[in-house]
Amino acid sequence: MEKLKGLKCRECGRAYRAAPVHVCEFCFGPLEVDYHYDALKEMVTRETIAAGPPSMWRYRALLPVDGDIAVGHHVGFTPLVAARNLAQELGVREVWVKNDSVCHPTWSFKDRVVAVALAKAKEFGFDTVACASTGNLANSVAAHAAEASLKSYIFIPADLEPGKVLATLVYNPTLVKVEGTYDEVNRLCSEIADKYRWAFVNVNFRPYYSEGSKSYGYEIVEQLGWRTPDHIVVPCAGGSLITKIWKAIKEFKMLGLIDRVTARIHAAQALGCGPIVTMIKNDTDVLVPVRPNTIAKSLAIGNPADGYYAYKTTKESGGSGEHATDAEIVEGMLLLARTEGIFTETAGGVTVAATRKLIESGAIGKRDSVVICITGNGLKTPDALYARLETHVQIRPSLSAFDRALADLKSQAVREGQG
Ligand SMILES: *Cc1c(COP(=O)(O)O)cnc(C)c1O
Ligand SMILES: [Zn+2]
Repeated sequence: MEKLKGLKCRECGRAYRAAPVHVCEFCFGPLEVDYHYDALKEMVTRETIAAGPPSMWRYRALLPVDGDIAVGHHVGFTPLVAARNLAQELGVREVWVKNDSVCHPTWSFKDRVVAVALAKAKEFGFDTVACASTGNLANSVAAHAAEASLKSYIFIPADLEPGKVLATLVYNPTLVKVEGTYDEVNRLCSEIADKYRWAFVNVNFRPYYSEGSKSYGYEIVEQLGWRTPDHIVVPCAGGSLITKIWKAIKEFKMLGLIDRVTARIHAAQALGCGPIVTMIKNDTDVLVPVRPNTIAKSLAIGNPADGYYAYKTTKESGGSGEHATDAEIVEGMLLLARTEGIFTETAGGVTVAATRKLIESGAIGKRDSVVICITGNGLKTPDALYARLETHVQIRPSLSAFDRALADLKSQAVREGQG
């Protein structure tokens, strides 16, 4: 039996055949990939998954691809790190870092969504792919398009970090800077997608693209030894990743791969762009769009497409959410680096900071287990730290110069200790 049914409207349930469409013609609800779960139950076991490759494709039966994988063979299956030092610092029994700052090939979880979207674009016969991006998606679409020999058009807000711009340009896409916010870029891209026959990964391919995020959730559960933690803290931009982690867990339960679901899913956003966390705090399913103003640019979506579903995910799972200020974001980045040797970007700083606040408020208990979702790499956003860090000493190449510098450092440490 075929595993893929096609697409289904998330609101009215109307079925569509598999095609590059994303909105229901009848109720304007978002479309989602639909599977024959009875068939999947026969096909998928812990053993079949464990026998797969060390990449997200070990879950390919649960992803919306039909033929051979055309692109992104090595994406995913990133480390789940037992973060003992961080756990001690945060005062919680068990902390894990799901570390997609080292996802192949472009150092963020966006490689997961792009691999599925571009595999699908190939299946549907497109020769050009495109995206509206807050940075990491731009990197990943450009890289995978290069690998797949597809043309790519990448649309970004003009004020993106230089590190993200460079790490896109190097793959030779056509990069279009738009003088506006991400939300304005996205609106423009919807118009462009209507006019040109391009595979816009997060517009007309969004139902396929977003399914790639499920692999992040599957990996957490498998790597924990086929169990869910008590809490998962997820950074939110468009609200897709958090929704799909929850979907992944529910699918594993439905397929009998786990017995019970213990995880509460919490949302992490910047205070300067936190419309989803604001919904959670005000306990309302009405999203109020904001104009972003935060150093966490990869999360700076003021009107998130999946905001409502992200809110529902936290509600359904018994989770909550926290905002992080820019100063807290920087402290979060430094804390993770200092305790675990992991250099994450600003989005990861948001997640660490939000986790700390969830622990302080009691939403995460001291005896609980927590997975912190680290989704991007710090080398792409060094600008956030230049002003905060400096070199300790600079010396001539002589031992006596070093001896003097070391003595100075030690007396300085003593003074600071006394002060
Ligand atoms: C895009 C992004 C997110 C959030 O993704 P959504 O699915 O849009 O909520 C989180 N972290 C990083 C680093 C990102 O680039
Ligand atoms: Zn509908």
